[in-house]
Amino acid sequence: MVRPKSFAAEPGGGGAPEVVEVESPDPGATNAARILQRHVEERTGPKLDEAAIVVSGGRGLGEASKYEMIEELAKLLRAAPGASRAIVDAGWVPYSHQVGQTGKTVKPTVYIACGISGATQHMVGMKGSKNIVAINKDREAPIFSIADLGVVGDVHKVVPRLIEALRARS
Ligand SMILES: Cc1cc2nc3c(=O)[nH]c(=O)nc-3n(C[C@H](O)[C@H](O)[C@H](O)COP(=O)(O)OP(=O)(O)OC[C@H]3O[C@@H](n4cnc5c(N)ncnc54)[C@H](O)[C@@H]3O)c2cc1C
Repeated sequence: MVRPKSFAAEPGGGGAPEVVEVESPDPGATNAARILQRHVEERTGPKLDEAAIVVSGGRGLGEASKYEMIEELAKLLRAAPGASRAIVDAGWVPYSHQVGQTGKTVKPTVYIACGISGATQHMVGMKGSKNIVAINKDREAPIFSIADLGVVGDVHKVVPRLIEALRARS
């Protein structure tokens, strides 16, 4: 009933709940569906909606193979890789990576948006992040309106430099 991380939990102050047994009517055709196969999603690193750092990529990456830099940067930062719906719809990354209204709501300490314009539907899923870093070549991109740190530049130049700097540290 409430989307995870959509607001901070506060003490309710209520008493112990009373358990009431309710007769449920026969819903009809339950158990009609048969499970034929199960697919377990492979994942390394933290879960997107639990990670302290999220690095997300958008259409500004230009092509699917460039998402590898997002994964690389995420790995170096021990972050979870995320995505805008544009690149999920384009089939570059699975739906489980999507941040936003119809994806996951995240509230990490640091959210890094790479080549993401900042559509309302994306921002509702990440605007609660403590620190937002945006990298976009368009200084008018809406994502800068909520960014704590904005880098006006090409993701293909900025992200590799970040990766290089982090590799030099480790
Ligand atoms: C009902 C509904 C639900 C939706 N739900 C979601 C949702 O859950 N999540 C979501 O993300 N979207 C959602 N959307 C889609 C949303 O409206 C946007 O279309 C989408 O977020 C855009 O993704 P994007 O920012 O990657 O792409 P774009 O809007 O195309 O932005 C790409 C950005 O990359 C920048 N760029 C381009 N090249 C470079 C470069 N070389 N270096 C740096 N920057 C560059 C551009 O300046 C631009 O700002 C939803 C839409 C609808 C209608």
